[in-house]
Amino acid sequence: MLRRTLLAASASPRLRQLITGAPATRAIVDSYVAGETAPDAVRVTRALRAAGLLVSLDYLGEDTKDQAQATAVTDQYVQLLGELGAEGLARAGAAEVSVKPTAVGLFLGTGTAAGNIARICAAAAEAGTTVTLDAEEYAAIEPTLQIAAKLRAEHPDLGCVVQACLRRAEADCRALAGHGVRVRLCKGAYSEPEAVAFTARRDVDRSYARCLRVLMNGSGYPMLATHDPRLIQITGSLAHLTGRGPDSFEYQMLYGIRPAEQRRLANTGARMRVYVPYGGDWYAYLVRRLAERPANLAFFLRSLGRNK
Ligand SMILES: Cc1cc2nc3c(=O)[nH]c(=O)nc-3n(C[C@H](O)[C@H](O)[C@H](O)COP(=O)(O)OP(=O)(O)OC[C@H]3O[C@@H](n4cnc5c(N)ncnc54)[C@H](O)[C@@H]3O)c2cc1C
Repeated sequence: MLRRTLLAASASPRLRQLITGAPATRAIVDSYVAGETAPDAVRVTRALRAAGLLVSLDYLGEDTKDQAQATAVTDQYVQLLGELGAEGLARAGAAEVSVKPTAVGLFLGTGTAAGNIARICAAAAEAGTTVTLDAEEYAAIEPTLQIAAKLRAEHPDLGCVVQACLRRAEADCRALAGHGVRVRLCKGAYSEPEAVAFTARRDVDRSYARCLRVLMNGSGYPMLATHDPRLIQITGSLAHLTGRGPDSFEYQMLYGIRPAEQRRLANTGARMRVYVPYGGDWYAYLVRRLAERPANLAFFLRSLGRNK
C-alpha cells in the first residue's frame, strides 16, 4: 500500500523537490548509483569485474519528451560501449548495457525508439557484448516486446525483461523461452492496476516461481533478477533439476543491494551480474528503490526529521 502511494505521489513536483533537496538523499543515491559520468561507470565496472562479477550498465533517465534528448541518450550508450570495448571490459558480454525504451524515444513513436536501439545494438556488437531492454510501465510493455522481436532478426542476443507482477508474465515467458531468447525475470518495480497485475506480494512471488520454472525448462538464457533469498534458492534447485550448467543462466542484482550475497554467488561459480545505474537523472530510480523497501523509506524519513 505504502509502495503504491509513494510511486503514485512521485510525479508531484513538491515531493520531487523535497526528496532531491534533502541532505540525506545524497548518501542514499551514492549507495545505489555508480556516479554521474561515463568514467564513473567504467571505474565501478572495472572494480566489479575484478571481483568476478558481470555488469549491466544503465544510463539513468526515462520518458524522454523530445527527439534531441532521445538521440543524446543513445549517443551516451554508444560512447560508453566504445569505452568498455577499448578497455576489454565488454568482451564476451562481461559488461553489457540495459536500455529503457522510453529514454530513447518509445513514446515519440516506435520508429524512433527502434532506430536508436538498433544503433546501440550495433555499438554493443562492435564491443563484443549485448543489450537488454528494461521493462517499464504497462503502456510500454507491448511496444517494447515488438521492437525486440523485430530487432532480434539482426541482433539475436537482444534481451528483454518480464515483470512477474503482470498477469501476462507466464504467457510472455512461454513465448520468449520457446524462441530461445535472453530473458531477465524480475518482480516489477511499477505500480499497475489489479486488472493487469497481481498486487499482493504473495501472488507476485508465486507468479515469479511459475515464470522461473518456464524459463529454466525452456531453450533460452534465463537471467534471474531478484534479491529474494527464497527465489534464489528455488533457482538453484531448478538448475539442478533441469540439468542446467552454471554457464546457461545467470543471477542479477542491483548495485548496492546485498553485495555480500552477490560475491557469495559468484564464488560458487555462478554467473552473477550487477545492474549498475549511472547519470544525473536518478530521481525516478531512487523513488522505486525507496518504495520497494519500507526500511529504506523509514530511514530516509527519519533523516529528514533530523535535518529540520
Ligand atoms: C538486475 C535487476 C534488473 C531489474 N530490472 C527491472 C526492470 O527492467 N523493470 C522493472 O520493473 N523492475 C526491474 N527490477 C526491479 C525489480 O522488479 C524489483 O522491484 C526489485 O528487484 C525488488 O524485488 P526483489 O525481487 O529483490 O524482491 P523483494 O521482495 O522486493 O526483496 C527481497 C529482499 O531483497 C532486499 N531488497 C530488495 N530491495 C531492496 C532495496 N531497495 N534496498 C535494500 N534491500 C533491498 C531485501 O533484503 C528484501 O527483503 C530489476 C531488478 C534487478 C535486480
